[in-house]
Amino acid sequence: MLRRFFTYYMPHKKLFLLDFSSAVFVAVLELGFPLAVQWFIDALLPNSDWPAIVSVSIGLLLLYIFSTFLQYVVNYWGHKLGINIETDMRQQLFQHVQKQSFKFFDNTKTGHIMSRITNDLFDIGELAHHGPEDLFIAVMTFVGAFWIMLSINVQLALVTIFIVPFLVWIIVFSNIRMNRAWQQMYSEIADVNGRVEDSVSGVRVVQSFTNEEYEIGRFKKNNRKFRKAKLLGYKTMAFSSSGIYMMTRVMTLAVLVFGAWLSFNNRLSYGELVGFVLYVNILFKPVEKIAAILELYPKGMAGFKRFTELIDVEPDVKDAKDAIEVGTLRGDIQFSDVSFSYDHSKPVLEGIDLSIRAGETVAFVGPSGAGKTTICSLIPRFYDVEAGSISIDGIDVRDMSKKSLRSQIGIVQQDVFLFTGTLKENIAYGMLDATDEQIEEAAKRAHLEKFIEGLPDGYETQIGERGLKLSGGQKQRIAIARMFLKNPPILILDEATSALDTETEMIIQNALNELAKNRTTLIIAHRLATIRNADRIVVVTEDGIAEQGGHDELIERGGIFANLHRVQFQR
Ligand code: ADP
Ligand code: MG
Repeated sequence: MLRRFFTYYMPHKKLFLLDFSSAVFVAVLELGFPLAVQWFIDALLPNSDWPAIVSVSIGLLLLYIFSTFLQYVVNYWGHKLGINIETDMRQQLFQHVQKQSFKFFDNTKTGHIMSRITNDLFDIGELAHHGPEDLFIAVMTFVGAFWIMLSINVQLALVTIFIVPFLVWIIVFSNIRMNRAWQQMYSEIADVNGRVEDSVSGVRVVQSFTNEEYEIGRFKKNNRKFRKAKLLGYKTMAFSSSGIYMMTRVMTLAVLVFGAWLSFNNRLSYGELVGFVLYVNILFKPVEKIAAILELYPKGMAGFKRFTELIDVEPDVKDAKDAIEVGTLRGDIQFSDVSFSYDHSKPVLEGIDLSIRAGETVAFVGPSGAGKTTICSLIPRFYDVEAGSISIDGIDVRDMSKKSLRSQIGIVQQDVFLFTGTLKENIAYGMLDATDEQIEEAAKRAHLEKFIEGLPDGYETQIGERGLKLSGGQKQRIAIARMFLKNPPILILDEATSALDTETEMIIQNALNELAKNRTTLIIAHRLATIRNADRIVVVTEDGIAEQGGHDELIERGGIFANLHRVQFQR
């Protein structure tokens, strides 16, 4: 895990070396300071050697100015290093999530993903900056200080070292507890995020059921759990820092008293006593520093662990090694003995055989939950088949690159997702580099023109989050305009007009008919009137494809379709 963490330093090697060497230099200077004081008191003061005092002071001053500059480097560039690593990881995670397949999103809460990408990485930057650097300096300072202390007075040094095991105990003990607390905290904040995401995107449902109090109650529960976890972390932190504080002060006093006694017996000079007391404080600094790292470490590592968990999720739909970049497809679609299930238990499709000719319009009808949407989701590989195969123009879709395959398929669904931004941007989502003319042309063909002309800001009109200010029919037309821009040879209309009133549906239907021209079109429809013109109708039931044929042919046959038709048209 640690090794993996360090790989993230590689792109920032120079920054790391700059920061690290500056920090080491500052530490060395700190280590030398008590020696200088000791020498000052014992050698320079008694002789009243004024010129020497002045020149030594000037030398020290210059060193300190340099060291101040280096401290600036450590504080600014060191943190820059940390932040760079943090943003690298965040970027990587976002990219990784974008590549995940539908199954991943079916099984992962949006709030949890958001949490991973934002909060979980907050402490990584600090750890990345302080971790290795402080650890090295702490060890170096500790060893250096103790070595100098031994050389000043062995007995006094041994008295000092006596306290160290107690310190270590406090640190290790609290570290374990903190580790647990921070992991818990991250998991709780993910739940809090999940709640926020749910109740905000579902706010219309919440309010129409007047379930605000219920939601508030649920949120409170999660929020409290978060508070508890974080509080436990801080409690442990407070315990450990108080403990460390007390030990260091007691130790300083002990050294002072024992040192005084040694000094009365002429075994220690005043300069040595002062120097020693200064070293005691220097000796404890690295211990405190290590404690601080140990505090930072579990926090950062808890986040890093959650980061790697997500990074290690391989998308289950991905490009084959030598995936084919298909150009423009004709649109001959062939399902051969296709079986599929969402969770490997209950099969949704079993042994589906179906061929669709290029340019054909095929309508899928049947009860809801039968698997119509599922059939269509398999073509662009939103999910991969479990058995059998799907090919387009004779090439298995699994051999094509996802990007080139999906560029050939357009999908219009019942729910149209609009992004925050302008109307123009939303239409251009079908072709990111579309010119203004192309966008206007697409809007015209989608019968959006009049609507857009009526808007004060026209194409630049801002669409609220999820386009709430637009009606279903308007959103649907934006989706159609996107398709005109994308211009794919294969088109899937999944209940595109099901949510619309009959009048709006007629207008949209015209636009859709225009869109479907010269494309292989798969229409899933609820209302049978919308599929009258289909070349072929495929009736899907829970047992698979029950019957297929032309509209009149199926009515004559008197099967399931004829039944559905009777129910819808002759009450
Ligand atoms: P239709 O479009 O004909 O109404 P679907 O293809 O949406 O039917 O669904 C077929 C079956 O698969 C249903 O039983 C449905 O519950 C299930 N299903 C659909 N989508 C998912 C999913 N993302 N995860 C798990 N099960 C699903
Ligand atoms: Mg469906």
